[in-house]
Amino acid sequence: MLQAARQGGVGVLSTLLTHWQQHALREVILCRCGQRMSSRGWRAKKLLTTLGRMPLGRSFYQCEQCHQSRCPDDERLDIVQTTYSPGVRRLMARAGSQSQFAQAAEDVRCYAGLKVEAREIERVAEEVGPQVEQWLSEQQEQILQRVGASPASPLSAAKFYISFDGTGVPVRKNELVGRRGKQADGSARTREAKLGCVFTQVGLDKDGYPKRDLDSTTYVGAIESSTLFGWRMYAEALRRGLAPAKEVIALTDGALYHRPIVQTHFPDAVHIVDLFHAYEHLTAIAQILWGQQAKAPKAWRDLLEAGDIGRLVGKAGKQLPTSAQSKKSRLKPLGYFEKNAPQMRYAEYRARKFFVGSGVIEAGCRTVIGERLKQSGMRWSVRGANAIIALRCCILSGRFEDFWASRTS
Ligand SMILES: [Zn+2]
Repeated sequence: MLQAARQGGVGVLSTLLTHWQQHALREVILCRCGQRMSSRGWRAKKLLTTLGRMPLGRSFYQCEQCHQSRCPDDERLDIVQTTYSPGVRRLMARAGSQSQFAQAAEDVRCYAGLKVEAREIERVAEEVGPQVEQWLSEQQEQILQRVGASPASPLSAAKFYISFDGTGVPVRKNELVGRRGKQADGSARTREAKLGCVFTQVGLDKDGYPKRDLDSTTYVGAIESSTLFGWRMYAEALRRGLAPAKEVIALTDGALYHRPIVQTHFPDAVHIVDLFHAYEHLTAIAQILWGQQAKAPKAWRDLLEAGDIGRLVGKAGKQLPTSAQSKKSRLKPLGYFEKNAPQMRYAEYRARKFFVGSGVIEAGCRTVIGERLKQSGMRWSVRGANAIIALRCCILSGRFEDFWASRTS
């Protein structure tokens, strides 16, 4: 019955399209070179729609000057240089962003009754991803140009969090030329994908800890420089209501490039370095001093919780040995505290009911990036990885339908 209904649907769609073509206004078709193009009759192509396969005839135009060609109907129907309808491309891109391409092809077959090859899913996902990225960056541009003019938002009462972090994505060898990495021989296997999120918090849970607002998290990300990523993060924060927000909190793990981004784009934010990373560094110092099983003394941990980093560094620093070589290796974790001390006033943050951990973005790195891009045996091109990251961020931020809507105007 379903099969028959779909076949009937293809017939109806076909009739509608023919009617639409017959009643379209006759327009002068111009070439990109400015010449008027002349009709070369009809050309047929097979289109795969969500209802099934359908032959489609449309007028074909060519330029006598430079021989470029156009099918205006394809442009109106958003099927230029593709045999998949927008509805099918949406399914394919979405499925391909959610699981491995072979699995995605199987999902599309099961859920939509459409037979498409895994490599076609890959191709379409890698086409739609950059289109999504293009759309996002056009919006980003518009938002950045409107700075200061953004309307008051109902979010203004909430605590407004921005958080970002990086995670390595395994890439092909040719994407790594000239890059140093963490492998034993100094080579790299991965490129860092940067992921950022924005979320809000109004309430507290029953134990009095801050509680993230349900469904308030949106994501942005890409394999790109920290400068570009800073602007991406900033535009997303503006889009989400940074301007009217009274309390802005930036949560990071204290990596070197994080601070310039916060200082440049979020100078009024309370910048907090993840407490759990701080604990790890404290443990690292203890292990250097007293061996692998050592834990940080309670006095240190109390100082950390109190945010009294000056005294903490003093106390831990006293344990330092005198030999220059070992001193250097021991100074490194201590330096983490010295550099990040202003972002470690944990007692104050707790009193103001702020989150003190970057758990949201770390979970994001796993769910948005890791689960799809870091499975065993995967090797990505930067273009392919960024396509999938753009799709996943767009979908998880609830903007995928807006993207498709923007193409039908
Ligand atoms: Zn021309």
